[in-house]
Amino acid sequence: MSIQLFLRPLLTVRLGEVDASLKVFGDSPFWLAFRFSLIVSAVLMGLALLSAIVVDITADLKRQSTTDALTGVYNRRGFDETASAWIESGKFDPICLVVCDIDHFKSINDDHGHPAGDRVIEKLSEFLTAHVRQNDIVGRIGGEEFAVLLTECAPSGATRFAERVRALFEASGAEALRGFSTTTASFGIVDHRPGETLQQLMSRADRQLYAAKKSGRNRVCSDGRNIDCLAPV
Ligand code: GH3
Ligand code: MG
Ligand code: MG
Repeated sequence: MSIQLFLRPLLTVRLGEVDASLKVFGDSPFWLAFRFSLIVSAVLMGLALLSAIVVDITADLKRQSTTDALTGVYNRRGFDETASAWIESGKFDPICLVVCDIDHFKSINDDHGHPAGDRVIEKLSEFLTAHVRQNDIVGRIGGEEFAVLLTECAPSGATRFAERVRALFEASGAEALRGFSTTTASFGIVDHRPGETLQQLMSRADRQLYAAKKSGRNRVCSDGRNIDCLAPV
């Protein structure tokens, strides 16, 4: 394209000196081919630009449809899609699933307002994402509920992860709520069994989360062999 842009004025100037042969040149196969190639390259460039824009927009829409706007982690759909693919691939065994839910979150909203509630959700999301490894998946799967798929991780590692996040979140409440209150969350952990689907794994994890809520909140419950509910120390 740029070569043509150079050639064209040069040829035009040169041919301007030879007025008589200008018309002959204008009708020559070379000139016709030259102009045709100019049109073809312009169309090709336009198409390339258009397809780059379409690819960009499609990727952006896909990202938006699988990402939670408040926290930037996966939303339910994104988490389900990616976690299912990871589980089915079998590449990341052993796998553990951690689900967690902020305790008495309705009261946080009621007492401190919705924006404060949002800050608390963001805080928990930050702690979760700060403590996962490269192939782990964090998703906000409900209003104040998160799920984390921990890859190549045994239940003992998952429990350490959950306990660390639980303690950090408990200590951070005053900051998120401008010194008024504390925040806590409850955690349920399960390890993936051979052939188990994400849905089955999720419902087992939910039962552990429910056990954590029922036994006093602000704790980690697991169906691992050695661990029951870990109350905060
Ligand atoms: P529990 O300890 O049993 O989990 O009680 P809870 O109050 O946390 O649970 P509940 O399901 O009663 O309340 C959840 C609240 O979360 C209700 C809803 O208004 C609020 N919520 C859901 N999504 C958002 C959000 O994006 N931002 C804020 N600020 N609040 C939200
Ligand atoms: Mg809750
Ligand atoms: Mg909830």
